[in-house]
Amino acid sequence: MSFGETLRSRRGEQSTDREARRFGEAKAGELRTAHGTDNVWELAANEGVTIRRSEWSGVDRLRLFGTYADGVITLYDAQIPVLAERLGVSESLATELVLAHELGHHVLDVSAVERTPRSPLREALSSWFGGSADERELEERAAQWFAVELLGDRLPDTARRKLRRGVGDIE
Ligand SMILES: [Zn+2]
Repeated sequence: MSFGETLRSRRGEQSTDREARRFGEAKAGELRTAHGTDNVWELAANEGVTIRRSEWSGVDRLRLFGTYADGVITLYDAQIPVLAERLGVSESLATELVLAHELGHHVLDVSAVERTPRSPLREALSSWFGGSADERELEERAAQWFAVELLGDRLPDTARRKLRRGVGDIE
């Protein structure tokens, strides 16, 4: 059994989530300190991220609230009311949550922007999992923890609990 496999077998789902939480929250704290604000719109602008708004309304039951790729965040405005309703928050707060989540992908995906050095998260992910679906899952969770940390008290406890149960996964 390889080192990676040994680690993987020892790490249950809970400890994977703990690692994701540790990374996500630490990154949110770093960003807030670096820019002296927790306003997600300002943070995205300061990070040089482009924000696009799309009115695409999805197909069938596929819900996509936002995406991140190569420095561009796309917000699917027509779908965000669904997330707001699921979480019981205003549409503007749901929009901020999606933006924060996608900004999390940007921050966690430093390698795509700076190429070197690779972000500590990616290094850790590669050594633990050797690159796999688990890596993606961990990044998703880290982005979600990043967003929850960044929104802080603005996010009601009820919405926070729903997010922890996987209601309102953003992608
Ligand atoms: Zn995501």
